[in-house]
Amino acid sequence: MNKMYFPSWIELDTKALKRNFQFFRNRIGSRTAIYPVVKANAYGHGMSEIVHAISPLSDGFCVHSAEEASRIPGNKPILILGHFPDEMGFLARLMLDQHPVFTITSTAQAAELDRAAKAAGIPASIHIKVETGTHRLGLQPDEALEMVSRLEAFENIKLRGFSTHFANIEDTTNHQFAMKQLFIFNSFRSALPQGGNYRFHCACSAAALLFPETHMDMVRLGISLYGYYSSGETRLSSMQQGLQPEDKLRPVLSWKTRPIQIKDVAAGDFVGYGLTYRAHRPMTIAVLPVGYSDGYDRRLSNSGYVLIKGQRAPICGRICMNMMMVDVTHINEVRHDEVVTLIGHDRDEQITAETLASKTGTIHYEVLAGINPAIPRTPVD
Ligand SMILES: *Cc1c(COP(=O)(O)O)cnc(C)c1O
Repeated sequence: MNKMYFPSWIELDTKALKRNFQFFRNRIGSRTAIYPVVKANAYGHGMSEIVHAISPLSDGFCVHSAEEASRIPGNKPILILGHFPDEMGFLARLMLDQHPVFTITSTAQAAELDRAAKAAGIPASIHIKVETGTHRLGLQPDEALEMVSRLEAFENIKLRGFSTHFANIEDTTNHQFAMKQLFIFNSFRSALPQGGNYRFHCACSAAALLFPETHMDMVRLGISLYGYYSSGETRLSSMQQGLQPEDKLRPVLSWKTRPIQIKDVAAGDFVGYGLTYRAHRPMTIAVLPVGYSDGYDRRLSNSGYVLIKGQRAPICGRICMNMMMVDVTHINEVRHDEVVTLIGHDRDEQITAETLASKTGTIHYEVLAGINPAIPRTPVD
């Protein structure tokens, strides 16, 4: 595949990426490791591009799965937050190639990793995930304590740390539940036998931004590395804490395309499948080579807009699998080589992943992670 010929493309603002990272580095200090979270193709930004761009600054990377870990370029430390398969050969090779840290929640997983580590001839590093109230991955604190002593039976396992994850830190300005989870995690920490040299971590972007007491030994920085607050509530809470306007995060990703046909539509004509749009005046429309198979949500049919020459061009009719039509009647002389912005800035206008998410009833995380990985990602300075 020659990426140059792809119908749309993504630009990554690497200056913004580094600036976002540096903003967190300044807030967090140099003694806490910052691990960018690059799961789900780096939140749709392109895993290898993001890893390359931020490696000089980052202490390591977090991924969801062992499969993702196997594709991370370079040799920074890797923490697998979620899945790894029950496949000794694959795990042994991964240990040799990438030396990842595995997050475990069962003795069976420890046994599996122990066997793979023995085969690889190197120890496997693990963190135990502690349940504090999210009820996603994690062992209850008493189970986790028991696990610590049980792990002594596995010669090839090195227990390096403990983690937990907040359930309700970005969806609210009331952080009571998060503070309760933090308390449970800290109590667990105090109950551990003395003398272990462990790493503790619990902070996602919102926690890292709002609560220094969550920073501990490392921060798992996801959405905000890419230039977004975790939510409107997180933005509000950070304002209440006096974050200055110049501290604002800057979105890293822009998504662009060019029209493949410009045409006139007479009053009374329909546009697109299902005849859901009808021109009530003579119009000019541009056909764009982007559709829902690219990750452009079909629920933006008749409601979204794109930017052309700094102006909004509303979507007419349904988003198709590979195309969409937009109204350019009010925009002067739109030509075939015009750059069309689906996400990003154009003069005074900006479309963010949040803009699209608010129109489709989802969150910006899903909009970004849903962008088809086949679309070329190009870092720009
Ligand atoms: C995805 C994820 C993060 C990052 O969350 P953001 O809100 O994007 O910063 C942190 N920790 C875990 C366990 C995750 O799954």
